[in-house]
Amino acid sequence: MICPVCTSKIEITQYNNEVFSRENYYCEFCNSFHIVDEKDMSAYYADEYHKDFNFKQYKKAFWLKDYFSKPRNYSRYQFLKKTTEGVEFNNILEIGGGNGDFYSLMNAKGEMDSYTIVEPNPSYNLVAENLLYHNMLFEEVPEDQLIGVDLIVMFHVLEHIFDVDAFFTRVKQLGVKYLFFEVPNIADKRVKEDSLLRHPHYHHYSESSLKMLLDKNGFTKYAISSIRPVTYHPYEITPKISRILNKLMGRNEVADRKGLYLRALINLT
Ligand SMILES: [Zn+2]
Repeated sequence: MICPVCTSKIEITQYNNEVFSRENYYCEFCNSFHIVDEKDMSAYYADEYHKDFNFKQYKKAFWLKDYFSKPRNYSRYQFLKKTTEGVEFNNILEIGGGNGDFYSLMNAKGEMDSYTIVEPNPSYNLVAENLLYHNMLFEEVPEDQLIGVDLIVMFHVLEHIFDVDAFFTRVKQLGVKYLFFEVPNIADKRVKEDSLLRHPHYHHYSESSLKMLLDKNGFTKYAISSIRPVTYHPYEITPKISRILNKLMGRNEVADRKGLYLRALINLT
């Protein structure tokens, strides 16, 4: 077996993924884990299909609400602004956009003209003037509906994509200017085990393997940051006082190589 990132030889591990019923393979060279055969997951992602479509009218939010109540969402926004410095986005596409948290913040900040969400789970849907919401997989969206997208956003989606190289090729062919994503970081033991065992993730990245993946796909301008959450940590309880103080100071996360998440911004221009 060959590593899909760096083509080194990979070894089978004892980590059996309960969604795929498959063992994960490990690549020592680039530090990554992989499920080596693809499973048809379309039914899994649309498992709420029998439910009525739930079209919610979007209510315009004030961005300060996210600053305090959704620190993770706000931190993603800050990372995007910091790494794209002054770039304006007119047409944004989010893959796996769920209940529209990131759309809501970008809209409140007046950041774009139009926003499209592609979300296979039909229990999510939103109606808003500058929002298009498709309950389907990204692969199923007709090409003509993706023309003119200047930023693709995807949080915890890339690890679900089996053929990542094909995905990047499609992104490049569409003429997208920026790609912004976040994936779990296997440098954290708890994140690693969750990712390997309990989620439908084909690939599990470290900072080094993610960098190799982007290099291999010909990306030359990108920023990768490994993040340790401070105010919204899923595994640790922060004392209330320090949580409030950190929130007020906007210190919701710190850079840490062993942090829980890897965030990346690719500039394709
Ligand atoms: Zn590798």
